[in-house]
Amino acid sequence: MKAMVLHEFNRPLRLEEVEVPKIGPRELLVKVKACGVCASNIKYTKGVYPYLTLPHILGHEPAGEVVDVGGEVEGFAKGDRVCVYIFITCGECLYCSKGEENNCIHFKRIGVELNGAYAEYLKVPARNAFKIPDGISYEEAAGIADAVVTSFHALREKAKIRLGEDVVIMGTGGLGINAVQIAKLAGAKVIAIDITSRKLEFAGKYGADETIDARKEVIAERVRSLTHGKGVDSFIDFVGSPESVRAGLRSLRRGGKLVMVGHDPYHDFQVKPFQEVILEEAEIIGSHASTRQEMCEVLSLVEAGKIRPIIGPRFPLSEANEAHRVLENEEVFGRIVLVP
Ligand SMILES: [Zn+2]
Ligand SMILES: [Zn+2]
Repeated sequence: MKAMVLHEFNRPLRLEEVEVPKIGPRELLVKVKACGVCASNIKYTKGVYPYLTLPHILGHEPAGEVVDVGGEVEGFAKGDRVCVYIFITCGECLYCSKGEENNCIHFKRIGVELNGAYAEYLKVPARNAFKIPDGISYEEAAGIADAVVTSFHALREKAKIRLGEDVVIMGTGGLGINAVQIAKLAGAKVIAIDITSRKLEFAGKYGADETIDARKEVIAERVRSLTHGKGVDSFIDFVGSPESVRAGLRSLRRGGKLVMVGHDPYHDFQVKPFQEVILEEAEIIGSHASTRQEMCEVLSLVEAGKIRPIIGPRFPLSEANEAHRVLENEEVFGRIVLVP
């Protein structure tokens, strides 16, 4: 099969012929029809995290068609359309027993520790596969596993947003634009922040009540004026730069939550004076990926037409390097998707 393979950090992926993965009795072989392109993949190609073993095939937002089914698998057949929850977990640790697969101390992730879906075929444990609701394309379904469910986890599980709250979505890229949609669905007043007027218009189209141009306005000041001086209940940071974290903490109401989803591995940062975090009872919360249960819940919201995964430009698999370049350097609306 064809795959885009990473052999060396900071070098382009290479289109190569590799062996189709062999499935075990509890696994499915999936013919990849689409794979979302996450900004983390660019960081992985630069070797900034220690998770990958080279050579490696990236791609942690797969969707495709089941073409082979292991002997012990029930509930799936050839021809099923599936998307994939990427955490393969031990099932036994404290976190697995609490249903927090994303915190499993032995987890391996498809496309990160394991080979992913920048390829024509992918093997997955059957319990990680989810049927795609009718009327949802492979391209839309691809982004669900990360771009939609990660946002859902940050908003519902970490920020615990409630009807009528004020919420900032900082960064309206592949994840943030879905977060705008989910926060709106939850009944929040949504303030979207980005750095171009076209991105802000796009956020408005998906439900942002107010928008802030971070290049032109002082974020915290504008947030306070939009909330009658109070500040927001939650600030969901999909950027993760020193500036966004600082702006987030200054934009919160007392007892508000800064939920950190985006991360910039190149900068460390000091937050505002320590005692202010304490005096204002700010909560600083990390949010990583999602649980298997949340994947189920998002799929039922997608099926009910309450959430529509927002996809952007499509690139052929062989142009994965170009897709990364565009994601890193250009204005992108919605999730970029690779198609075979
Ligand atoms: Zn990702
Ligand atoms: Zn575990």
